[in-house]
Amino acid sequence: MKKLLVLLSLVLSVAGLAACNSSEEVVNVYTTRHYDADDALYEQFTKETGIRVNVITDEGYVSVSKIKEQGETTDADVFITSDAGNLAFAKSEGIFQSIESQTLNQNIPSIYRDVDNYWFGLTKRARVLLYSTERVTMDELEGLTYENLVTNERWNDQVLVRSSSNIYNQSLIASFIEVMGKEQAKMWVEQLVEVMAREPEGNDRVQAVAVKDGEGDIAIANSYYYGKLVNETDTESKYYGVSDVVGIYFPNQGANESGVHVNISGAGVIKHAKNKDNAIKLIEFLSEKSQQEAFSATNYEFPVNPKAQVSDLLQSWLDAQNITVLKEQGIDLSNLGDNNQEALNIMIESKWDQPE
Ligand code: FE
Repeated sequence: MKKLLVLLSLVLSVAGLAACNSSEEVVNVYTTRHYDADDALYEQFTKETGIRVNVITDEGYVSVSKIKEQGETTDADVFITSDAGNLAFAKSEGIFQSIESQTLNQNIPSIYRDVDNYWFGLTKRARVLLYSTERVTMDELEGLTYENLVTNERWNDQVLVRSSSNIYNQSLIASFIEVMGKEQAKMWVEQLVEVMAREPEGNDRVQAVAVKDGEGDIAIANSYYYGKLVNETDTESKYYGVSDVVGIYFPNQGANESGVHVNISGAGVIKHAKNKDNAIKLIEFLSEKSQQEAFSATNYEFPVNPKAQVSDLLQSWLDAQNITVLKEQGIDLSNLGDNNQEALNIMIESKWDQPE
């Protein structure tokens, strides 16, 4: 049945392509991001270039295997997904091609793109700490790091985090392998499991809800989710009002510390893209200053392009902590993919999902 559905969707997408006007310029985008911010940018791109953007939203794994299976017959030109780990996976499955672009090389610092230019980071997100503003004092936050979060008595049985199956956590540990070495990374995970407030469940925002509900005093989550919480307007939502009692903290900012873990969302051009030039144009467009600032303003992500300003909301988070320049791990994100399996092994061995 599943095979039949794949076949059917293949036939339909080929038929759909054949039906569209052959003189019309298009670019077909497979994306795992489903944000209004992205759609607005695609519209802007069409307005400026006349190139229509067809968006197919899907899950990461599904898209990669679908595109791989389709081979030369694929209609996909660009694949966009979150996390360097997912991008590295797409590269290893052979669905991307290497792109030489002066514009991309200028707009995107090398640590945020693939070493062989198979994928390019477009937005950054930090894996931060979300804490209870009711139960955690400023003194307790001062100098907080990933390292002392798991060793300081204060946080014993207080730390909330989602499951090991999630790529954000896998990439966090993959980054620790890079920064601290494998042994230290393993020790960190073992200590984290000891101080977990409960068995991992739910997504990043659910961890913040658990902080609000008093299940733990502090959570590990991606920074843009805090932006979403701040801007939650649906009074019926479980996320409504959470940011009133939960704060955001960027760990590892001290002079001798490693910097906060930063990951990306990014894009690559499909190996068998029929509209390669348009695909490159779209990625270049998204890397330009004004689009980068739009990502920051509407999706609460940090720009990768150093010329772009962070939005007022993000700036206010940095200001609250007296951060002038956010200190990042500064590691080459291409390495996260290489360390992913090792990271996952460590998490499973340490019983991340079944803390005692
Ligand atoms: Fe996310």
